Amino acid sequence: MTEQTEQDEKLFKDLGLTPEIQQAIDEIGFEKPSPIQAEAIPELLAGHDVIGQAQTGTGKTAAFGLPMLQYLDPANDEVQAIVLTPTRELCIQVTQALRSYAEHLDIEIVAVFGGAPIRSQQAQLRSGAHVVVATVGRMKDLISRRSLVLTAARFVVLDEADEMLDLGFIEDVERILRMCPSGRQTALFSATMPPPIKRLADTFMYDPVTISITPKTLTVDAIEQAYVEVPGRAKVDKLIEVVKAEDPEQAILFCRTKLGCARLERDLKNRGLDVKALHGDLSQGVRDGVMLAFKNHRCKLLVATDIAARGLDVDHVTHVINYDIPNSSETYVHRIGRTGRAGRTGRAITFVTPDQRRDLDQIKKDVKASISEWEKPEDRIEHARPPRRKRRGEEPAPLDEQPAVAVEEVEEFDEVVEVPLNNVDDETGGDAGTGDESADIPETADGAVKLFVNRGSRSGIDEEDLRWALREGAVLNDDQVSDVRVLERFSFVEVDGDVAERTVEFLDGTRLKGSGIRVEIARS
Ligand code: AMP
Repeated sequence: MTEQTEQDEKLFKDLGLTPEIQQAIDEIGFEKPSPIQAEAIPELLAGHDVIGQAQTGTGKTAAFGLPMLQYLDPANDEVQAIVLTPTRELCIQVTQALRSYAEHLDIEIVAVFGGAPIRSQQAQLRSGAHVVVATVGRMKDLISRRSLVLTAARFVVLDEADEMLDLGFIEDVERILRMCPSGRQTALFSATMPPPIKRLADTFMYDPVTISITPKTLTVDAIEQAYVEVPGRAKVDKLIEVVKAEDPEQAILFCRTKLGCARLERDLKNRGLDVKALHGDLSQGVRDGVMLAFKNHRCKLLVATDIAARGLDVDHVTHVINYDIPNSSETYVHRIGRTGRAGRTGRAITFVTPDQRRDLDQIKKDVKASISEWEKPEDRIEHARPPRRKRRGEEPAPLDEQPAVAVEEVEEFDEVVEVPLNNVDDETGGDAGTGDESADIPETADGAVKLFVNRGSRSGIDEEDLRWALREGAVLNDDQVSDVRVLERFSFVEVDGDVAERTVEFLDGTRLKGSGIRVEIARS
């Protein structure tokens, strides 16, 4: 295991990357490698297998992506590298990151994931892919249809392996690994290293170098933290008391296990609370639906396991409740970091049984935070509650990035129309979020919906880039896109009403040509 010190802080130019890749990094604006990059890139370039114990946000995608891209031969049309991801959100995110790193290389990167038409993915594979970024199920499917052959896949990445395990994909991952050449190079990234992942590494990796990155600073200053001590059998009642007293705008309730999660959802529902659950036993479609409902403020309480909540990027959670105490201080920080975002305050409340007091003390020590005993809000000075969001989605882009007219277009939000969830929870939910959304989305006369994108020609984005993003990122056919208009500092696109929500979901917060983009439904 290696650890980086301040003294040997490296620069990208020290890592042995080619000028084309260095140029892309410069253009994206990365100044120096993150710790995982500084450690992993030289090892991977030297041909070693690497286990990276690192969470999202550490820069792990470039850590495996840059050496992988450097290793590829553009003249060879075979699939030379694969990246396996647990979810399609991650699949899309990784694909977009890799494409930005490959800006000056003649490398084709294709994303394949479930919930989207397989035929268009087959067509993309036929027209040539050096790298395939895939969810496990869809890759298996494409292999069995002979649309994807892995005999030349000499670089294999397993991204968020522990999440693949949690979702029950590990046997499929092993099957896929067996189809790759035995002399391949394998990189495995995982936030945690449960025994099955260790076993997988032992079986399928050759003398791997392990790089472990722990977040150095645990910043949880903006979050008020409290604990509730309660015997196990009284937890549900106490939770209900806490939730009622706190009256959160939105809260995530963390459980340790999938079963515990399902049980708590049932118990809370039985007591009349507005709650949904997110855990690895649910199908991708259901999880998509739950995430969307929560993001769009159509559900107040979300019960989740750590792993299932990882793909959830939400800004307006007022409360995190650790119904089960997390099993490490890092997990604690990761969990409670879901609240108190964007300069707002948030509250984190941790439930402990009497025999878990020692675990809580350890967390207090590691996090260096004061975690006091919970009191009812009326008994304490009220903390500043973030303003209630009126509409789904995130904050508009910083005002200085938009002209006045655009600010008006995105800032004046409609009140959320409470709509029944209908199909969003449905097992068939590959298209989660369509259909039930139309009530509060302004449509143009022909049923298209106008979306606002906070980047324009100034960011080097042109119409073709946006059409590409709609095609590749949001998996739209050209005929679902009725108009793309690029202005200097922002753009508008019009897409079919039934895919508008999905387009926002897939593209908002991603990167296009090195710039983070925000996509919102524009007010008509
Ligand atoms: P990841 O952990 O790969 O999901 O990356 C998290 C975020 O960090 C992404 O938005 C990356 O674009 C960004 N990032 C990755 N590497 C660097 C770097 N060396 N310097 C600054 N930002 C980075």
